[in-house]
Amino acid sequence: KLYNQVQDLKGSIRVYCRVRPFLSGVSNCLSTVDHIEDGNITINTPARHGNGRKSFSFNKVFGPSATQADVFSDMHPLIRSVLDGYNVCIFAYGQTGSGKTYTMSGPRELTEKSQGVNFRALGDLFFIADQRKDTFRYDVSVQMIEIYNEQVRDLLVTDGSNKRYPLLVYCLYIYIFFFLQWVMKFGFSQATCQTLVIIQKLMLSLTIRTLEIRNSSQTGLNVPDANLVPVSSTSAVIDLMNLGHRNRVVGATALNDRSSRSHSCLTVHVQGRDLTSGAILRGCMHLVDLAGSERVDKSEVTGDRLKEAQHINKSLSALGDVIASLAQKNPHVPYRNSKLTQLLQDSLGGQAKTLMFVHISPEPDAVGETISTLKFAERVA
Ligand code: ADP
Ligand code: MG
Repeated sequence: KLYNQVQDLKGSIRVYCRVRPFLSGVSNCLSTVDHIEDGNITINTPARHGNGRKSFSFNKVFGPSATQADVFSDMHPLIRSVLDGYNVCIFAYGQTGSGKTYTMSGPRELTEKSQGVNFRALGDLFFIADQRKDTFRYDVSVQMIEIYNEQVRDLLVTDGSNKRYPLLVYCLYIYIFFFLQWVMKFGFSQATCQTLVIIQKLMLSLTIRTLEIRNSSQTGLNVPDANLVPVSSTSAVIDLMNLGHRNRVVGATALNDRSSRSHSCLTVHVQGRDLTSGAILRGCMHLVDLAGSERVDKSEVTGDRLKEAQHINKSLSALGDVIASLAQKNPHVPYRNSKLTQLLQDSLGGQAKTLMFVHISPEPDAVGETISTLKFAERVA
């Protein structure tokens, strides 16, 4: 009931802020966060960011001691609305290392208590579906994709089926390798090696099967070519998520060696049949672990890293633009500006419900990113 009241006041977009605790090993460090009160968070800003304090307000703020259960505690209405046939989108936004993956999936060594939103949401979904089994029959299936450099890839693959002609491309590469060596009279000059590296990269990108986004309101499947796996228990979902994580592109950055430079999206499709009337309803829930929002210093990164950073930047600002124009009830919503917003088009705006978790790190040296994260979030709140 309370949730609905809030909905009426604020539309269907809610923003929660979560502050990560200090990681073990870090001590004698003053937190950037000055205090948290209800939905307000006040941070200390050092001289170069306008010495003093800045306050931001959100629907809710979770401090460093909030548990995974606390964070999930008032999300039941969202889950219920998926089973009622609505679309829901849950995002994790923040700089690398601020706790996005922790909120959505949990820590690397997962225990039942530390399970993230993904697991809890699915657990809840199965629980409510079971409660309604006398009146409804639900079928649940999941897809998991990632968006890397504006390309969509399937994460639920085991047999290399997300690769195109791997053998053919591999043979071609070997052929070119020896041909070049022969041309160079089998001398390994630096230029040859550089050329080979470039060719190798080109060929690797040839083998990646990228998927199309199609907005088909009939089936509700936006990426029809991605594997759609029926699930009926949370343990099956855990196996699938582990598979997805292994397939996810991870790149090493100075901040976090597990940092992800891609957006990953777990989509849960629910189809319910009313056992008395036979009517069908469809709902879906996107659970999105966004790529790190940190701005990279253009002078420090080059090549692939720079390209990644530019793609991430573009898609996160496209997401911000979409949510901001929805919040302002703007008639034109710029969904077409990125793959991410195209993918989520029918789950953002309209009848859909959106929840964004913004994550901040407490360390003072992250204050610049913390401020820009909070500003991003305030724009959409
Ligand atoms: P991101 O996905 O934003 O890059 P992670 O979720 O990987 O960040 O978090 C970085 C580190 O901080 C991980 O080791 C994670 O386990 C830890 N961590 C993040 N949030 C919390 C939290 N609320 N409580 C305890 N540890 C956390
Ligand atoms: Mg992560």
